[in-house]
Amino acid sequence: MRIEDKLALNVFELDKEAHITVDEARCEKCRDKPCLRCCPAVLYRLEDGRIFFNYEGCLECGTCLIICHNYGNGGVNWNYPRGGFGIYYRYG
Ligand code: SF4
Ligand code: SF4
Repeated sequence: MRIEDKLALNVFELDKEAHITVDEARCEKCRDKPCLRCCPAVLYRLEDGRIFFNYEGCLECGTCLIICHNYGNGGVNWNYPRGGFGIYYRYG
């Protein structure tokens, strides 16, 4: 089974409140923008030099927090979703 097929089995209980946000001012000054390469769900995008982030589909792996604060510019504000929301892993 491919990774993409396994990921497609997961279920998300979407919270209207974002559990991860990014600080655009810090992102603008972030030289390497490692979040673009490290999020396994590809939730960070670069458009016209600006970082766009969508928390829907987050796998709650914590990679972006570690990578941003160690190799980026500290622009990620990271929390788990509120109780009852977020991803339900179903490995198939
Ligand atoms: S690594 Fe952090 S500071 Fe840099 S662009 Fe990504 S979210 Fe912004
Ligand atoms: S926690 Fe993982 S899946 Fe969620 S945005 Fe960060 S890197 Fe992507």
